[in-house]
Amino acid sequence: MRKPTVRFAGSAASPAQFPKDGLPEVAFLGRSNVGKSRLLNALCGIRGLARVSATPGRTQLVNFFLVDDAWYLVDLPGYGYARAPASVRRGFEGLVTTYLEREAVVLGVFLVDPRRPPTDADDLLRRYLDRLGLPYVVAATKADKLGSNELTRRRRELERGLGRKAREVIPTSAEDGTGLPELLRAIRRATEAHGTVRGAAVGREA
Ligand code: GDP
Repeated sequence: MRKPTVRFAGSAASPAQFPKDGLPEVAFLGRSNVGKSRLLNALCGIRGLARVSATPGRTQLVNFFLVDDAWYLVDLPGYGYARAPASVRRGFEGLVTTYLEREAVVLGVFLVDPRRPPTDADDLLRRYLDRLGLPYVVAATKADKLGSNELTRRRRELERGLGRKAREVIPTSAEDGTGLPELLRAIRRATEAHGTVRGAAVGREA
């Protein structure tokens, strides 16, 4: 797997701080503790790129990483942390929905832990992505923690529960590298399609 070149491009605490250069953006979404930080670090081959287990439910920043000078990898705050105060939860919803509605966002990477049943917050997010018409892939995290039979079974279950705009379920592991090339390929397909035809080929509905 070719390692991408990645640099931190900034954080946004409000919509005014989102990038304006029109490069395609790929949004990583998932509940707190799903394994998002470690997956981002492993995907980019940079330890410490995204902070692993920062105080859950506290970070309300959208972090942008410029990859190969061609697209942004976007780390959205984790959701569903039960102890987060209501004001933090509302802040999350406002910032994230405003973020996702932008045209530059060409693909969502929806992280789920295949060992755990989906929460209400996961269902809400899935329905929201469908309503937005944003294509997304599901990255099943921590695949190394499951035996291969169990992983196949959970993958099929996830596939059955996919929404209208979902493309595929990709089992991944930050621990042993499972699925990282597949995930990067799915991302490059979406960003390259955006680069040539400004989003038409990725099927985003107006
Ligand atoms: P985040 O809150 O979604 O950013 O989750 P983190 O990346 O901080 O991971 C949460 C916990 O899951 C940590 O204890 C990680 O070490 C563990 N974890 C994350 N990814 C993997 C993985 O691929 N395999 C295993 N075995 N553990 C993982």
